[in-house]
Amino acid sequence: MEKHRLVVVSGPSGVGKGTLVKTLVKRRADVVESVSCTTRAPRDGEVHGREYYFLSKEDFLRRVQENDFLEYDEHFGNFYGTPKSFVKEMLKEKSVILEIDVVGGLNAKKAFPDCVLVMIAPPSVEELKRRLIGRGSETAVEIAGRLSRLEYELSQKDKYDYVIVNDDLEQAIQDLSQIVDGTYSQK
Ligand code: ADP
Ligand code: 5GP
Repeated sequence: MEKHRLVVVSGPSGVGKGTLVKTLVKRRADVVESVSCTTRAPRDGEVHGREYYFLSKEDFLRRVQENDFLEYDEHFGNFYGTPKSFVKEMLKEKSVILEIDVVGGLNAKKAFPDCVLVMIAPPSVEELKRRLIGRGSETAVEIAGRLSRLEYELSQKDKYDYVIVNDDLEQAIQDLSQIVDGTYSQK
């Protein structure tokens, strides 16, 4: 039986994590993206069980007590966590990708040492800015906030198993796909 892997994808906002992961999951029936739990309210169009499992704070904290999170953290006053039960179930059939920040990624590695940490880096800071502005989903202030975390995120890359520079999108998808298969050799 082929081995299924837990792969954590991190990197600065706007670098292309969502694009890479969603394309790979669409192409490969043997790869799935994990769905996190959160205590924040759903945004318009978000569906329980698709973008997130939306939980009350009480339920979330109960699951913390029950040790049901591989890792969890608080962002902007809400809790977010990776459900251990979901990941374990899915790993029986498929490889699982988690898209989380570097703090979450390093915590996941502590809890699950077999997981593979992948940092997605931009070809340049200028290109990252262009992508963030081009995506058009954040205000100028929000973009500045995301860019201020860039240096910190990238400074953690030595703690990661692999770094993929997302320059040519197709190449980056191939690289991530090979990491999932365990056949990638870092250039
Ligand atoms: P993240 O999930 O890391 O915040 P996104 O996947 O939303 O980033 O990508 C940010 C923007 O950059 C999107 O508009 C996306 O289409 C674009 N993008 C992603 N990868 C590339 C690439 N290799 N070259 C050019 N643009 C890209
Ligand atoms: P948003 O509310 O915009 O969907 O996400 C806010 C932040 O929560 C993002 O930085 C996102 O990466 C982070 N996040 C989402 N799911 C998880 C998770 O399972 N664990 C951790 N640690 N962070 C998460």
